[in-house]
Amino acid sequence: MTENHADGIISGAKAAGRNALDESAGKALLAGFGIRVPQSRVAKGTADLEAVMDGLQTPVVVKVMSPDILHKSDAGGVKVNLRSIAEVRAAIEGMLAAPKIRGARVDGFLVEEMAPAGHELVVGGLRDPQFGPLVMVGLGGIFVETFKDVSFRLCPIARIDAEEMLDELKAAAILKGARGGKPASREAIIDVLMKIGGEDGLLLRYAADISEADINPLIVSETGAVAVDARFILG
Ligand code: ADP
Ligand code: MG
Repeated sequence: MTENHADGIISGAKAAGRNALDESAGKALLAGFGIRVPQSRVAKGTADLEAVMDGLQTPVVVKVMSPDILHKSDAGGVKVNLRSIAEVRAAIEGMLAAPKIRGARVDGFLVEEMAPAGHELVVGGLRDPQFGPLVMVGLGGIFVETFKDVSFRLCPIARIDAEEMLDELKAAAILKGARGGKPASREAIIDVLMKIGGEDGLLLRYAADISEADINPLIVSETGAVAVDARFILG
């Protein structure tokens, strides 16, 4: 992405009075830094789903887009593995009727391709008032929430820092395929960490605009990594 395009994503959200990027804009920003995101389209509702689905590979995922909803799954706002236009329509209708979505402002529904199966990691960033942006990585789910098994570094990180961040995780062995699981591509994770936290990375480039970044999850297979959820807080 040219700097202007990335700048436009952030200034557009600010001009609209938003304090966060919506998922579609967040993923466009990541893509601009060379991070893989699923192919996606935004559906306004259940009309024109033929056009929305045109060119997308099934199965797809549907997700509610709402500035009022932080955890889409908790609100019933994520449906995976949908194989037809009819299934996508039913998913959207179900979301529009869901108790936690009915009263919310809904911008639309993100329809996107499924990422190849893999380990779910979290890659994020936050801005320390004194030291500036920090980049973090951890394994998703209970590892982050219950065990707080994450590692942080001040930006910019070099490749060796990204390596150390991964080796530091208590769950590091899981990424190497412990207990019969498949390994996660170490190269792909390091690449994403550099694109987020490196010298030319997103966090430093937008240090003045982005106060928090959260890719949760980054799905990492043996061969690559895809950012399937993205949240950026501005300010
Ligand atoms: P939220 O965190 O707001 O509940 P996510 O966008 O993270 O919503 O989706 C919830 C879960 O659904 C993810 O953790 C992941 O397991 C799965 N998921 C979401 N999008 C995809 C996708 N494109 N491909 C594969 N799995 C997905
Ligand atoms: Mg998520």
